[in-house]
Amino acid sequence: MMRARSDRMRRQYKTIVLIPTMGFLHEGHLSLIKEGHKHGDDMAVSIFVNPTQFGPEEDLESYPKNLERDLELLQEEGVDAVFTPDAKEIYGNKFQTYVTLEKLPNYLCGLSRPIHFRGVATVVAKLFNTVKPHVAVFGRKDYQQLVVIRQMVRDLDFGIEIIGAPTVREPDCLAMSSRNKYLTSEQRISALSLYKSLQKAKELIKSGVQDAATIIDWATELIQSYPETDIDYIAICDTETLVDIQIIDRPVQMALAVRIGKARLIDNMLLNP
Ligand code: AMP
Repeated sequence: MMRARSDRMRRQYKTIVLIPTMGFLHEGHLSLIKEGHKHGDDMAVSIFVNPTQFGPEEDLESYPKNLERDLELLQEEGVDAVFTPDAKEIYGNKFQTYVTLEKLPNYLCGLSRPIHFRGVATVVAKLFNTVKPHVAVFGRKDYQQLVVIRQMVRDLDFGIEIIGAPTVREPDCLAMSSRNKYLTSEQRISALSLYKSLQKAKELIKSGVQDAATIIDWATELIQSYPETDIDYIAICDTETLVDIQIIDRPVQMALAVRIGKARLIDNMLLNP
């Protein structure tokens, strides 16, 4: 049905924009839709909690949902089509073809989530083939995901324009995430340590620090000074290859993941020397 609709839109010379999501929508998702409207005239949003990108110990079962509210929000945002497939529709009968990238999943989140980016690349490839968008918008909040999708689109000649949209934050600068719902009010305070460490890094660079290890040490100490924080990784890396950088003599990406209670939170920022 979605495919037939897309064929119809293409025959009408519409420019189709796709925003893939896992639902439980917040302002971050809505900002992607607002960005998307600038790039096309047929807006499709998918809501699918993709089982193949969750590891066995992860939160697939408890991932928050509220489809009714999501649909209301999407209507308010002027979305033309909402695609809400179930797992059977996506991974039907005896599924066995996956998209894997050779290098990019060997860094950052890929280290503690070994099957995650295979699941992401596979489901996004399938969504691209079904919805047939001209343009797709992804959040820079999931920086590694954005880099992985750009690479896949180049490597497999999807011919889809990928837009990276800025991270939307709460008033106190915590990056919006469906997973913030898992935080207790004490943990919510600890969650601010992610952004604070990125800000600290920015200040250190401004004051002339060029050594990545020094900045990572500062960030580690800052985050550990908050209760219940368990650092997964803090990295300063090349913006495209994600390979670690030692000396910050050009724009680099700082990215981190921290477990706080049941939530695993991520954030990142471009650092400009
Ligand atoms: P998710 O539903 O978490 O899979 O996210 C769907 C899309 O929304 C992805 O492209 C995310 O990068 C993007 N996204 C999630 N949170 C934010 C945010 N706070 N700001 C901007 N984009 C976001």
